[in-house]
Amino acid sequence: MSLNRLTPNLDPQALAKELSGKHFIAGEFCAAVSGRTFPVVNPANGRTIGAAALGAAADVDAAVAAAKLAQKVWADKNARDRGKAVAECGRLLMDHVEELARLITLETGKAIRTESRIEAGVLADVFTFFGGLGSELKGESVPFANDVLSVTVRQPIGVVGAIIPWNVPLLLMALKVAPAIVAGNAVVVKSAEEAPLTVLRVTQIMNQALPPGIMNILSGYGPDCGAPLVAHKHVGKVTFTGSVETGKIIARMAAEKLIPATLELGGKSPMIVMDDADVDRAVDGAIIGMRFTRQGQSCTAASRIFVHEKIHDSFVAKLGAKVTAMKIGDPMDEATDIGAIISRQQMDKVQSYIAIGKATAGATALTCCVMPSDPALKDGLFVQPVIFTGLENDAKLCQEEIFGPVTCIIKWRDYDRVIEQANDSDFGLAASIWTRNLQVALDATKRLEAGLVQVNQNLVVQPNISYGGVKQSGLGKEASLESMLEHFTHKKTIMMKMA
Ligand code: ADP
Repeated sequence: MSLNRLTPNLDPQALAKELSGKHFIAGEFCAAVSGRTFPVVNPANGRTIGAAALGAAADVDAAVAAAKLAQKVWADKNARDRGKAVAECGRLLMDHVEELARLITLETGKAIRTESRIEAGVLADVFTFFGGLGSELKGESVPFANDVLSVTVRQPIGVVGAIIPWNVPLLLMALKVAPAIVAGNAVVVKSAEEAPLTVLRVTQIMNQALPPGIMNILSGYGPDCGAPLVAHKHVGKVTFTGSVETGKIIARMAAEKLIPATLELGGKSPMIVMDDADVDRAVDGAIIGMRFTRQGQSCTAASRIFVHEKIHDSFVAKLGAKVTAMKIGDPMDEATDIGAIISRQQMDKVQSYIAIGKATAGATALTCCVMPSDPALKDGLFVQPVIFTGLENDAKLCQEEIFGPVTCIIKWRDYDRVIEQANDSDFGLAASIWTRNLQVALDATKRLEAGLVQVNQNLVVQPNISYGGVKQSGLGKEASLESMLEHFTHKKTIMMKMA
């Protein structure tokens, strides 16, 4: 724990350089064992902003060894004191919100006003929230026999491996790390290739309030650095957010070691708009739900919007007009609503889905917004949002996760049929129903197959609200007290015979 407090660095270019080429292990920055790095690119203009340490098995070994050593002492601390340290992380991170917002904007191309600043604020809030939950690590007393005291206690797992994606890396890292640490574990995070720098800075900030080795972070490619972390013999739990394909690879590796895995995977979230819904509110809800301000790069994106035929045309017209009024441009500009797509590969994928949609018989594509004209952004990865109508629920675009600013509006007439269609998906992450009729709302919340069902809102992940999917969307919950207890501890039974 350092006594010299870090001061926020509001120059993200300088900060990116300062953080370049390093992991953070045992309270210190260090280069990769191989000495190698890979470039970090600003997707808004294609310029290289720095480099990340290229992690491999040897780096994983060092990080896990540090975590294992530190965890023993950490687990012996009072749970409430661990919580206090995590809450202190939240306080320190709060002082760095603007710094972190600028840096995450630089490396991911997300708009600072609509996305990055909000994410940096929620990051701090997650630590504050979990920091207060130390005393909730309770067990039970079990009636067994009059002369036997039988109780359960919550024990930490040990070293937790956390693998995170690039779309909301700060928040998703916090949802894993904060409960894991409060519960008495030490963590090794493997950051996403596209967004390794801001999470590294977060780790540095957190290490001012934590003993060295409790929170470590590595950068590197999935198969070279993520896989050895999952496979490491001293990693007792893995928590992952990313694609379904990688989730399954990780689940198989975890099964081989018989360790628990929490998996937050993809989605194709339905939003059902009834004919009695407030259309303007539902349109605003669709914009939030679809995460247009994040270029649609969200696993909960409301990418299938079922609108009753009576209000379909007015809904589409209003949604098209509102999305078109949004500004695509320089993510650092306060006036920008929508920034850049993370990578060329992701942009090609999104564009190929748009092309498939346009070529589908009966489909109409409403292309929204104006492309940025600033020559400084000519190499930026910008995609205009597209609203498709006329597609059936079984179309490729309605079944596969696009992870881009593309949504499909499906006209419906029969309520039972629309619930059936909403559930006709491999995914089950989130869903919403928009109606003024309480009976319909309650019925839909029961019947929709999703981990999170909202009525008349499409809020993003919040601390204290259990989050996680069913079907191909994953296993296990995050963000709540329940996630800390169920996923970062194991229950030990202790039986004491009285004499
Ligand atoms: P995306 O397509 O969004 O990049 P991925 O699931 O490929 O989604 O990536 C999410 C995270 O999983 C990243 O940190 C990535 O490096 C990691 N990852 C990818 N492949 C593997 C793997 N085989 N083992 C462990 N981690 C992996």
